[in-house]
Amino acid sequence: MENCIFCKIIKGEIPSYTIYEDDDIKVFLDINSKSNGHSLVIPKKHIKDILEMDEHTFTKILNVIQTKVYKVLKEKLNCDGLTIIQNNEYGQEVKHFHIHLIPRYKNSNIELDYDKETLKPIEDIYSIIK
Ligand code: AMP
Ligand code: ZN
Repeated sequence: MENCIFCKIIKGEIPSYTIYEDDDIKVFLDINSKSNGHSLVIPKKHIKDILEMDEHTFTKILNVIQTKVYKVLKEKLNCDGLTIIQNNEYGQEVKHFHIHLIPRYKNSNIELDYDKETLKPIEDIYSIIK
């Protein structure tokens, strides 16, 4: 899609530090890394978010993470764990589906904040959702 920064990366119009690629998927380092090896996994076709995602592509993406990329991050960077984050709509800066792979290391901490101000009792939330 025109003017989509990740489509431009796929076309090679913008450079990226690509660490894995196949016919459907590209994985490259996030330029604003939260930890060493922070990577983004994207489909090559322009899919906006999880609501637009199709089962086949989603399965392929998860499989690539599970069987390929996590192994590379463990073996090459010696990470102790992996945190997976995926933003949709509000909180999503780039409107081309991407999964953040954030390698975790025992000697470093990343901030995963929560908002004490707006947090309601868990019972209230359950009674709304159930
Ligand atoms: P999100 O807030 O989930 O949409 O995250 C978008 C991510 O894309 C951010 O972490 C950015 O650092 C990253 N990003 C934006 N432009 C580029 C780029 N040209 N190459 C690599 N990562 C990028
Ligand atoms: Zn795109």
